[in-house]
Amino acid sequence: EEQKQYLAGFTMGHDVARAVSGLPVVSGSVGGLGSSLTIGGGAANLDGQAIPYGPERIAYEAQDAVIAEGKKLCNEEKAKREKNPLDMWDEIISRSDANEFPKGTDVFLHKFHGMFHVAPNQNAYMMRLRIPGGLMHAWQLAGLADLADKSAGGYIDITTRANLQLREIQADQARSVLYGIRELDLISLGSGGDNVRNCTASCLSGIDPDELIETIPLAKRMHHYILNHREVFGLPRKFNIAFDAGGRIASLDDTNDIGFRAARVTEENADTDLSSGVYFQLTLGGITGHKDFARDTGVLLTADEAVEVAGAILRVFVKNGDRTDRKKARLKYVLDDWGFDKFLTVVEEEYGRTLRRVPKDKLTCVDNEDRVAHVGFHSQRQTDCHYVGVVFPVGRMTSDQARHLAAIANEFGNGEIRLTVWQNLIIPNIASADIDAVKARIEACGLDWQATAFQAGLVACTGSAGCKFAGADTKANAMVLARHLESLFELDVPINIHFTGCHHSCAQHYIGDIGLIACKVEQGDDMVDGYHIVLGGGWGARQGIGREIFQSVVFDEIPMLIASLIAHYLEDRKAQESFVDF
Ligand code: SF4
Repeated sequence: EEQKQYLAGFTMGHDVARAVSGLPVVSGSVGGLGSSLTIGGGAANLDGQAIPYGPERIAYEAQDAVIAEGKKLCNEEKAKREKNPLDMWDEIISRSDANEFPKGTDVFLHKFHGMFHVAPNQNAYMMRLRIPGGLMHAWQLAGLADLADKSAGGYIDITTRANLQLREIQADQARSVLYGIRELDLISLGSGGDNVRNCTASCLSGIDPDELIETIPLAKRMHHYILNHREVFGLPRKFNIAFDAGGRIASLDDTNDIGFRAARVTEENADTDLSSGVYFQLTLGGITGHKDFARDTGVLLTADEAVEVAGAILRVFVKNGDRTDRKKARLKYVLDDWGFDKFLTVVEEEYGRTLRRVPKDKLTCVDNEDRVAHVGFHSQRQTDCHYVGVVFPVGRMTSDQARHLAAIANEFGNGEIRLTVWQNLIIPNIASADIDAVKARIEACGLDWQATAFQAGLVACTGSAGCKFAGADTKANAMVLARHLESLFELDVPINIHFTGCHHSCAQHYIGDIGLIACKVEQGDDMVDGYHIVLGGGWGARQGIGREIFQSVVFDEIPMLIASLIAHYLEDRKAQESFVDF
């Protein structure tokens, strides 16, 4: 009673509120990510008990509003309401000590810590990191390789968000992996579940002769903002943010919920309200799995404004996203429902300032993309400096290869490694005199620095080898197809082929020149791997959603089918005509 009276004069923090409400104190994290001394109570969980909460209260209030309207929260929302996923560290560690995997809705909640239980495919954890802008140190990659050997499957996957994943982690190794990545100065918090995923940027930031502005520092700023704003861990669904500098290698900003695309205002177009310089166009609502690109809002932001505006957008989404139907819980559906005018007005209220609207004809937008610049040796902005894009067949490296690449980066570069959204990595800052030595060292570890036009544009999600949603073994099928096409054709233009295992569209099949989405196809008494095939997708200046041309094709027939499409293209195309235009 004394404690309650004493506290009555205070607003309550997370742990304090738990103590007062009689619930066990889960984390003692005053000063850490879980700290809060600002919030009063008000909400109740499904059993009518008071929910103690911190800055993430806005998510609980959004749930309250759904319940007050007499609607039902979806199961994932109920799970988050019963147990705050950010407070599950102790539970995850003791589960690892007991050599157990999570069950029921805890499988979903563990993803907030980057731990994905991927049964039945592997009955193991997959652990996903967050590496803002894809920039990491060689010592981190070498350390991860050691961790993969000790506690995971002995290999590392590169994702389409310029990020890394470890697989085949047994239950009793979860603790070792979570400790290990922190000791390498890496983090997995919020890399799965209903969170802002790894923030991406133009991977040649600072070394690209053609870029308008450096974007990796902005991805880092966004990353640290997220980690220190607990309320943005209360989203209705996952969320993607990308910064694009208008340089050689696309960051695929138009496929993100928020895309920041660099554009210039020249002296000629400047006036008293708009100074010349480089800005970011704000685009919103990209989700290619739902056949939508991020659309231009007409808002122009300085680099200094971008992160805070993104924070305001995230809070508006937390408050107003759909919490009843997972299929409608992405930002696109708030935008479709409200329209841009209403959405931007609400964002301005949250941000506390008016957003700068600038007509497109005042902007100089650039298209410097080179679709094969992520592979091979290329010169940098700096004199006598080159970067090399190392090729990985569908984004996988063994731990030995990872250690070799880290050694190359240390010996011939400046110790930097840059991951790309094209499922490969770049080693920058190599002197001209060292190029031959680096080529030899890359080849010595069984990798390549050059790729055919098919392999350079080959993207595949995890598939049935490690994902329970997959309808086919996408990575293996992608390699079979690429090898078949390479044996028949030498292309002078890149053709992107994207293999995705299900409607979640992790490999973004709708933006490939050729996109394949897995399905099961009846063959006699069996169900076998097959795909629906879409053609004519693209991004950036060639933006387009692929159209479905073939349905339910058995994989065995696909190499011949696609080879005949490409043969037809090569025979009948006009000069310089791309596959999409054909
Ligand atoms: Fe898994 Fe589907 Fe994503 Fe492929 S697209 S990794 S099958 S969720």
